[in-house]
Amino acid sequence: MTRISENISAVRERIEAAARRKSRNPSSIALMAVCKTKSAEEVRAAYDAGQRLFGENRIQEFQGKVEALASLRSGPDEGAARFHLIGHLQSNKTTPAAELFDAVDSADSLHVLERLNAAALKLNKIIPVLLEINIGGEEQKAGLPADQSRLNQILLEAPRLEAIRIQGLMTVPPYTEDPDAARQYFRKLRELRDQIASRKLTGVSMDELSMGMSHDFEVAVEEDSTCVRVGTAIFGARNYT
Ligand SMILES: *Cc1c(COP(=O)(O)O)cnc(C)c1O
Repeated sequence: MTRISENISAVRERIEAAARRKSRNPSSIALMAVCKTKSAEEVRAAYDAGQRLFGENRIQEFQGKVEALASLRSGPDEGAARFHLIGHLQSNKTTPAAELFDAVDSADSLHVLERLNAAALKLNKIIPVLLEINIGGEEQKAGLPADQSRLNQILLEAPRLEAIRIQGLMTVPPYTEDPDAARQYFRKLRELRDQIASRKLTGVSMDELSMGMSHDFEVAVEEDSTCVRVGTAIFGARNYT
């Protein structure tokens, strides 16, 4: 478990170095520890090492460990662990998603947002949301197309979704061996974010740009990421058996 603590320090140092190369303030970049397939004990080890922001992919998996993590989430604001859903959200899972998570970073349809809004209203909760963009236009991947009317429709409907706060964009770019090859996708997402932000739409904030994973987070930081989602480089390889 000291390995997790060492890994977090090493990742933080690499984020800081990448930020300095672009004269960015390292404190403007959040590190999210992606704990899918990892145990509550491993999450706790990360928490004990100072980690507060976590990402989980699957609602069902998170349901299985949420009780064991309750004490980490109940502290005062700065001390409390926060868990974001980063995996694809289906419209029939919006109620547990609203119940279990502090934020949804992977919303990709108006229908899902409407249902999430209704679930949040019932729970008397406000849910911060990122819109997931399929920036490489990959067929099998979740996320909104970058260049179509569906995204625009969501942005225009935002004021009506009173329990949802759209805060920015998220992407998982096409996998490339060479992390530098992901740069074009990160740039594209940032340009899309800037374009939306310049419209100053009611109820839409575009402060957040969630991009970068274990193998390419430094490139993402260089391209203005505000949140890198790191799993393997913190917790080690995942075992899916
Ligand atoms: C698994 C996952 C990550 C973390 O991936 P690593 O390569 O292990 O860092 C980040 N974002 C999403 C959406 C994921 O599903």
